[in-house]
Amino acid sequence: MSQCLGKTKSGSRCKRSAGEGSLYCSAHEDQAPGASREADPPEIDVEILEESIEDRDTIDTLIVAAALGAAVVVVLAVGKLFRL
Ligand SMILES: [Zn+2]
Repeated sequence: MSQCLGKTKSGSRCKRSAGEGSLYCSAHEDQAPGASREADPPEIDVEILEESIEDRDTIDTLIVAAALGAAVVVVLAVGKLFRL
């Protein structure tokens, strides 16, 4: 059994022995690399989701604008036909 790699609150090396199959004692297991990563909130995923929602709004606006533009073109073309 090896010495714990964790650090105490005062910043000195922990003098307890590490647990079996671990580099840290039970008090410092949370200092192991990746030990608490699953508890972190997925901030990057949320940002990507919000960006894709904004993109969808932009696409909807473009579709509406294109439909309105096409409708204006049709109205103008029909008006010209009736005048001729
Ligand atoms: Zn320790």
